[in-house]
Amino acid sequence: MENGRETHKHAGCGYMSSALATTITSALMSDLSGHVSYNEPMSEHTSLRIGGPAAVFFKPEGLTSLTEFIRRAHRQSVPFLVLGGGSNVLFGDAGFDGVVVSSKGFRNIETQVTDRGLFIRAGAGVTLSRIVLAAQKEAGQGVECLSGIPGTLGGAVFGNAGSFGAEIKDVVAAVTIVSMDGKVKVLKKGDGHIDDGLNFTYRRSCIPEDSVIVSIDLRLPLGDPAAIAARAYECLTKKRQTQPHSFHSAGCVFKNPPNGYAGELIEHAGCKGLVCGGIEVSMVHANFFINRGGGTASDYLSLMDRVKAMVKAKFDVSLAPEIRIIGDMI
Ligand SMILES: Cc1cc2nc3c(=O)[nH]c(=O)nc-3n(C[C@H](O)[C@H](O)[C@H](O)COP(=O)(O)OP(=O)(O)OC[C@H]3O[C@@H](n4cnc5c(N)ncnc54)[C@H](O)[C@@H]3O)c2cc1C
Repeated sequence: MENGRETHKHAGCGYMSSALATTITSALMSDLSGHVSYNEPMSEHTSLRIGGPAAVFFKPEGLTSLTEFIRRAHRQSVPFLVLGGGSNVLFGDAGFDGVVVSSKGFRNIETQVTDRGLFIRAGAGVTLSRIVLAAQKEAGQGVECLSGIPGTLGGAVFGNAGSFGAEIKDVVAAVTIVSMDGKVKVLKKGDGHIDDGLNFTYRRSCIPEDSVIVSIDLRLPLGDPAAIAARAYECLTKKRQTQPHSFHSAGCVFKNPPNGYAGELIEHAGCKGLVCGGIEVSMVHANFFINRGGGTASDYLSLMDRVKAMVKAKFDVSLAPEIRIIGDMI
């Protein structure tokens, strides 16, 4: 924690100067299959449209390329971090002096209906909306309330995304990760009430921050197709009515405190419409900060601090961030 904010740990050891990053990474990336670009603006990969350049942006083509990259990065102490859809992150204005690894190349999806229900095996880069549609098509029940949440399945599992009382954890059976040493591990949920190495809490999973989720197994009970479709439509409509959608945002800024809603506290503390630079507390939903154009990570963090202080002063509640603050801030 820094200044009460959670910051994302970077895999590898420490930071490098930009020049060092360029020298090491061109050798590091030389014969890995996938897309590689240098000085890639992260504002183009985040829903907030904020974020300076990453020294290297890497979208591995498959597991072999990813595991080889992680092994080399670990050996050479090159920092890296994973990005899915970029819909839950505030990326620093200074970018990231390391490698941003995109999960978007992992987008296979298989479905199978058995007497135990619907089984889905999907790559971490598959969008959550594709999962909701696939489940709907096969009458799988349990993800309809996640309809309308942007981003990838990997990001949803990492942060245990949820909505209207449902969470992705409810349907996750196993998660395959590549750990920092380049080894592939499968974390499985037990069949009973005890989880075998796979635990989730509110907007959190047990997946180590220095691991990369590559694929996820979901198991859903079968239900009535019409009821599933109706519920998904209802949740999507509610979201469209209650969340700002004409401006860029990263979803809810703060987690709900126990027995309350962060949005209500922020609204009743008088923060709706507050502005810092290009960032504003949405008039539609007070727990969404919108980028009105030209907003920076520094504006966003200043607004977070102001809102936090106003809520603390009025209700004596300390809000904790739901968004992930990643990359280099200054
Ligand atoms: C308009 C809007 C509405 C939203 N509504 C909701 C909502 O109702 N409920 C909700 O829970 N969220 C909501 N969100 C937030 C966000 O969409 C979800 O948290 C989503 O699941 C994040 O997925 P992502 O792929 O975009 O993750 P990213 O933003 O790319 O990453 C988020 C974190 O996950 C890590 N991560 C991502 N992929 C991997 C991987 N493969 N392996 C390891 N770590 C990984 C990243 O390092 C980062 O720390 C909303 C966002 C927006 C913009």
